[in-house]
Amino acid sequence: MAQTYDICIRGAGIVGRTLALHLAAKRLKVALVEATTSHPSGPDVRAYALNARSRQLLEAIRCWPADAHATPVLHMAVVADADAQVHFDAAPQGIDALNWIVDVPVLEQQLAQAVQFQPLISVVDTPQPATLTVVCEGRASTTRDEFGVDFETHRYAQTAVAARVESSLPHQQTARQWFSEGEVTALLPMQGQEGNFHALVWSVSPERAQALMQHTDLEFTNALQTATRMAVGTLRLASSRASWTLQHAVATRWTGTTTLDGHRRAWVLAGDAAHNVHPLAGQGLNLGLGDVAELVQVLDTRGYWRPVDDMRLLRRYERARKAAFAVVGGSGNSLQQLFAHPHAWAENARSWGMRGFDRCTPLKHWVARQAMGL
Ligand SMILES: Cc1cc2nc3c(=O)[nH]c(=O)nc-3n(C[C@H](O)[C@H](O)[C@H](O)COP(=O)(O)OP(=O)(O)OC[C@H]3O[C@@H](n4cnc5c(N)ncnc54)[C@H](O)[C@@H]3O)c2cc1C
Repeated sequence: MAQTYDICIRGAGIVGRTLALHLAAKRLKVALVEATTSHPSGPDVRAYALNARSRQLLEAIRCWPADAHATPVLHMAVVADADAQVHFDAAPQGIDALNWIVDVPVLEQQLAQAVQFQPLISVVDTPQPATLTVVCEGRASTTRDEFGVDFETHRYAQTAVAARVESSLPHQQTARQWFSEGEVTALLPMQGQEGNFHALVWSVSPERAQALMQHTDLEFTNALQTATRMAVGTLRLASSRASWTLQHAVATRWTGTTTLDGHRRAWVLAGDAAHNVHPLAGQGLNLGLGDVAELVQVLDTRGYWRPVDDMRLLRRYERARKAAFAVVGGSGNSLQQLFAHPHAWAENARSWGMRGFDRCTPLKHWVARQAMGL
């Protein structure tokens, strides 16, 4: 088969589509391999907390959703055992928002439409010969296995239950998170500034998740009202429920070569195919979009004599992104383990640490700016 593409991207999730649009904007010819069924069980009920860096990347390809679908978070309240609390606010830091809560199906739809109008992208259903293959197939990537890459995986004893809920009180652009008895409950504000819809991510033991999935709507919202301490009043379930097992995982190699169609071909991994983190810090897709930004930059600034499969470039990408993952993934993993510990001494240490942290304004500002990708 004649080779006609510079890049073949396997996987048309948010990472794959964003990458395709950026590469095509740099005049590279892209084949985007789309699986036939992305969400067989209906639209995604999640909304993602995206940071300023991700916003810039999506704005550059005109795919940042309208205000009603990308709610700016002005306040963040993290509550733990014994009512220890940490608050983050955008205004004292002189920023528009700590992050934005983006409706996932809306973002996916915008990216899919943009792809249709980009003549340098061909959406295909099987991998195509190309100078470079980028694997964006998500955490269960089969190509990663086919290329012989180990995926070091630590499964958390937690499952995330996600849904949309409506509250009797407005969210006031506040993202709320409760750490209690080994569970993490997050309510993320949706539907714009005056809204009272939230995206729920509730990380619980697998047994509790199974029970929550089987509860009637009333039993579910009663349990959720208890977990959220009625902070936004009474709750109504506004969507179906979905669940995800949770893991921390990283590929041992993010780039290499393999034989495809009888030729030695270069490949790289990006997004969840390369790394998975716990959703408690809302950083999984932000990391994946960070991969996109780095790969585009490395390819775009290459010397004119270097092809897109130059291993020196691809290793530079791998080094930079592994370092970013080590910081973001490592801190999220430490937080998960700290709050999963059930003992009283751990609870006391957490409460003491959180109170001290809440009073330390410069440190809080620094942490917030890291999470924003600044
Ligand atoms: C409950 C929950 C909440 C989260 N909240 C946040 C948050 O607030 N902020 C944040 O930044 N991140 C969050 N994340 C993480 C985020 O969901 C992922 O990091 C992100 O979806 C990864 O995108 P991706 O495109 O790499 O992979 P995916 O979204 O998994 O997309 C991969 C695509 O590849 C396709 N595919 C798979 N195999 C093949 C194949 N062989 N050929 C062709 N196509 C294939 C799939 O169908 C899919 O379309 C959350 C995750 C969970 C579970």
